[in-house]
Amino acid sequence: MKFNYKESFFAKLRAGENRPLRIAGPCSAESEAQVMQTAQALAQQNIHLFRAGIWKPRSRPNSFEGVGFKGLAWLKQVKQEFGLKVTTEVATARHVEEALNYGIDVLWIGARTTVNPFAVQEIADALKGVQVPVMVKNPVNPDLALWIGAIERIYNAGVTDLAAIHRGFSSYQKSKYRNAPVWQIPIELKARFQSLPIIVDPSHIAGNRDLIFPVSQKALDLGYDGVMIETHPDPDHALSDAEQQVTPARLAEIFEKLQVRKTNYDDVELVNRAEELRLQIDAADHDIIAALAKRMALVEQIGEYKKQNNVQVLQLERWKEIFRSRAEWAEEAGITPDFVAELYKLIHVESIRKQTQILNED
Ligand code: PEP
Ligand code: MN
Repeated sequence: MKFNYKESFFAKLRAGENRPLRIAGPCSAESEAQVMQTAQALAQQNIHLFRAGIWKPRSRPNSFEGVGFKGLAWLKQVKQEFGLKVTTEVATARHVEEALNYGIDVLWIGARTTVNPFAVQEIADALKGVQVPVMVKNPVNPDLALWIGAIERIYNAGVTDLAAIHRGFSSYQKSKYRNAPVWQIPIELKARFQSLPIIVDPSHIAGNRDLIFPVSQKALDLGYDGVMIETHPDPDHALSDAEQQVTPARLAEIFEKLQVRKTNYDDVELVNRAEELRLQIDAADHDIIAALAKRMALVEQIGEYKKQNNVQVLQLERWKEIFRSRAEWAEEAGITPDFVAELYKLIHVESIRKQTQILNED
C-alpha cells in the first residue's frame, strides 16, 4: 500500500495548523436535539470532523443499540446548519449505502468489525468506485496483521484516503484502562506505513474522563496526527459510554492544553547532543546483550546438569524467587519493577526453551 500524506484528505483538514486533527461528538446520536446541541458547541471550537454513532455495536442485547437510519438525517442537518464535516460508524454494506446517500463525509469501521474479514470485505465491496475517506479502528484484540488486513481490503477497493484509529485493545487483565493501549502495535503500524495518518481515540482507551488528556498527549508525543474524543452535553446521562464522555467545555480545555511536538530537532547543536546520547545508548545496549549472552551460557550449563541428573526443567520455587528478587533489585535501581518482571518473563521462556532442547538432545 502506498499513501501520500500531504495529499490526503486528513492532512489537508489540518493543513497549516500547529494543532492535531480534531474529531469530536457523542458516542451515539440519541436525539435530534442532543445532536444539534453538541454540534453547535463543537462548531464554535472549529473541530474538523463531527462524529456520532448511529448503529452501535453493544456487547449485550437490550442495551441502547443506536437510533438507526433516522440519525443520518440529523447528521445531514449538522452539515447544513453548522458547515461541519460528519462521520459515523458503518458495519454493513447497507450502512455504507445509506450513509453515502445522506452525504456522510467520512466513514469509520469499528473495532468489532475490523476483527471480521468477511464484514470488512463486504464494506470494501460496497465502497468500490466511491471516493469517500475511511478510518479503520484497530481490532478489539491486539493483532497488527488483522488491522493492516482491514486497511488493505478497503485500499484494494480503491479508497486511498485512509486513516487508522488507535482505540486500544481488550484485555482480561485488570488495568486502569478500559482498553489497553499496547503502544507498540500502532508504533509498528506507523513504522510500516509512514504516510498513513493515525488518530488516537483516548475515550475508548481510557474508559473514563480523567485519562483522556494524558492518553491524548502521549499519542501526540509519539507523532500521531489526530485525536477523536467523545463529547456529550450531559455525559452522565449519555445512553452509551457515559463514564468516558466529556462536555464541550471540558473538550475545549483538553484541546487548549494539548501540545504538538516538533517532528525533529531544528538546530545542529541539538542534533549533535542527541547523537551523543544515542551513541551512549548503543554502548549500553551492547552491555545488555553481552550480559544476556553470559546468562544464557550459564542457563545451558545448568541445563546440562539437570540432564545428567534427570531433573525436570521447570523449578517453580526458583523462578518465583527470581521474579521477586529482580523486581526488588529493579526498585532499588530506580527502574519500574513491573517492567523488569515482564522482561524476566521473556527470559524465563527462553531459558526453559533452551533447557528443554538440551534435555532432549541425544
Ligand atoms: C465508538 O467509537 O463509539 C465505538 C463503538 O468504538 P469502538 O469500535 O472503538 O468500540
Ligand atoms: Mn463509544
